[in-house]
Amino acid sequence: MHDLIESVIVIVAPRRCAGCDEPARGIFCAACDALLEHAATPTAMFHYGGPIADAIHRYKYQGRSDLSGALGSLMARGATRQWAGKVDAVVPVPLHWRRRRARGYDQAALLAKPVARALGVPALIHGLRRVRHTPSQVELPHHERRRNVDGAFASRKLRGAERVLLVDDVRTTGATLAAASEALREGGVGTIHTLVLATRVLT
Ligand SMILES: [Zn+2]
Repeated sequence: MHDLIESVIVIVAPRRCAGCDEPARGIFCAACDALLEHAATPTAMFHYGGPIADAIHRYKYQGRSDLSGALGSLMARGATRQWAGKVDAVVPVPLHWRRRRARGYDQAALLAKPVARALGVPALIHGLRRVRHTPSQVELPHHERRRNVDGAFASRKLRGAERVLLVDDVRTTGATLAAASEALREGGVGTIHTLVLATRVLT
């Protein structure tokens, strides 16, 4: 039955590679799949670059919110391998409402849902709030990135979420995840794990 549903979906809307938009059988076509660099850390799925960077770029900056399903399921696979039974909730690193309004969606929130579903825990989409609008980390020199996001987040009281998996699409220096973790800790979360789709740094 599952196969039948899959083939119907293929007929109605042929699958496209998340990296290059060519027809593909899976999330990536064979050529892109061969170029993916898997990260050797439990906190990231891939090294940022090549097809995954193209997919993320399309997802974030070209209005392709439909890629959240494919990219979210990639993350969900990694999350189940590492964090099944070890976290009580998934919390995404939120966008500031102004940026969310401009983009029409919050990319990390869309990724958090399939990850939480795979882990069998709630996705606390509003667990963190971005209280300050900050320039994108990518636009800033390294030494200014920590200061840029310092105090940028506030946590809501997360009942029953002693152990949280904090998720984001990209880790640039780790400063954003550190600031978001600090806010969660102030909100009473004891253990914080992090997972990103792609990392620009190795730690
Ligand atoms: Zn491709």
